Amino acid sequence: MPTERRYRPIGTCMYCGRKPPEVELSDEHIIPDGLQGNILLPASSCKGSKSCAEITSRFEARYINGAHGGLKTYLGVYGSRRKKNRKTTIPLFVSERKEGSPSKFAGNLTPSEHPFISMFEHFERPRIFTGNPPPEGVKASVRIWNTDPLKKYPAVDGPPWVGFEPVVRTLSKIAHSYAVAEYGLGTFSPLLKQTILNDKFDFEDKLWSMFIGCEKDIQKYPSLNLHEISIGPVEFQNRFLLLCKVWLFASVPSTPIYEVVVGEHWHNRFTPRKVVIPQLSG
Ligand SMILES: [Zn+2]
Repeated sequence: MPTERRYRPIGTCMYCGRKPPEVELSDEHIIPDGLQGNILLPASSCKGSKSCAEITSRFEARYINGAHGGLKTYLGVYGSRRKKNRKTTIPLFVSERKEGSPSKFAGNLTPSEHPFISMFEHFERPRIFTGNPPPEGVKASVRIWNTDPLKKYPAVDGPPWVGFEPVVRTLSKIAHSYAVAEYGLGTFSPLLKQTILNDKFDFEDKLWSMFIGCEKDIQKYPSLNLHEISIGPVEFQNRFLLLCKVWLFASVPSTPIYEVVVGEHWHNRFTPRKVVIPQLSG
């Protein structure tokens, strides 16, 4: 594991604003630990029962394990904890012959025998920039990793759809914590606290697509890094917005770069910043 990067401690929960002694604070991984995201923002999230740390780790786990658990096993991407429990197999899902029927679990296979399919939601640009209505459907970047076993499992399906909620909330959390890490709490007016904290938020109405979307075009070439995040000010229709770009699994061809409008501010003197998680070899 490469050495972790640590920002200066915040001393306040960056989500709910509570401080010690009212709450105890824990360190937050800006990119989830389960994605090998070893960039820490110390003392920045309240911990304990029904805390912000509990809320964020729950939706992150649903997104990472639900949507990308297989890809992680495929690439050997692991978090820092529980070395013994690292998965060596990937669940196989196959679709029934009937149109529209859900895919069925068909057993656990090792990466070499698995005709593995990875899928990334590809959204439109954040609607604040386009003025478009919420999108009807959603596109996905799909990649088959291993075509040989397809002869044996022709009806292979991707991992079951986890819904918008965990992906939207994970992107919101990455962007919000990165903005706080680089510029400080209270230097901008955050736009995504509801998306992050409110368990009853309705994600199916796609109101979040005002602030969360994707770059229009897929990058032609993958990155040499595993993940990349960058942030900077954008002036748009007399508003100063803070735009964070989140590129997860950047080393995988055809993965989208998510655009997250994380906050609004009153000047545009913020300088652009970028941080990467290098690809591990072996
Ligand atoms: Zn909190």
